[in-house]
Amino acid sequence: MNGKGKLVVAIVIALFSVVGYFFKSQKNPYTGENQHISISAADEVAIGLNSAPEMMEQFGGEYPDARVQALADKVGERLLQASLQNSEYQFDFHVLADDQTINAFALPGGQIFITMGLLKRLSTEDQLAGVIGHEIGHVIGRHGAEHMAKQELSQGLVMATQVATADPNNPAGSAQIAAFVANMVNMKYGREDELESDNFGVQFLINAGYKPEAMIEVMEILKQAAGGNRQPEFMSSHPSPENRIEKLQQSIEYYKKELQEK
Ligand SMILES: [Zn+2]
Repeated sequence: MNGKGKLVVAIVIALFSVVGYFFKSQKNPYTGENQHISISAADEVAIGLNSAPEMMEQFGGEYPDARVQALADKVGERLLQASLQNSEYQFDFHVLADDQTINAFALPGGQIFITMGLLKRLSTEDQLAGVIGHEIGHVIGRHGAEHMAKQELSQGLVMATQVATADPNNPAGSAQIAAFVANMVNMKYGREDELESDNFGVQFLINAGYKPEAMIEVMEILKQAAGGNRQPEFMSSHPSPENRIEKLQQSIEYYKKELQEK
């Protein structure tokens, strides 16, 4: 094929991936929003389960005290019971041993992580519920899957499907998983995604009988801890934490009122 022919083929391939992005859209059952996501909820669950071990390895493994893991499970389950009983996602809550990193993560499909570095700075169960509730919000908001769909657009690569079916026991599979986890750890959600997750968090806390104001306390704790270059995930894409706290206050007022009217 001559140079011109190759160019035409390249353009056709690029067009197909752009068209694929804009036509593959799914309505999110929790937000009602149409999202450009080409994978199913079951794929998201497979991706999360496949990449969870690698995620844990990157942060020193699971924290070895079973009582601490049980606390995260208990809080997570209480939130799910109150708000998401029939979810298609498979939620698991893990405390990571790393006590230097102050962070929390959610993989697509429901694998949720909080580092010991963040957990040890929290002083109440409500605050832990605030962190976990926010991360559950990223899962049901499908923010990770949406992020991958955008990457698919630029790379022309179906990374998501690869990770969902990757075999961690062969080198190619584990390399795909490692690349994916590195990507998730370093990714920054957009401002809208963070606010949406904060909103979900407020609703989950209220429904489960936790104090929603604990989410504001968590913001204050993170603000204090955010010295140096490495910003915690909660703050990463937010130039103005005050603004986010203000939005949280509005959200708390709104959902408390809505609850009273029920
Ligand atoms: Zn977040």
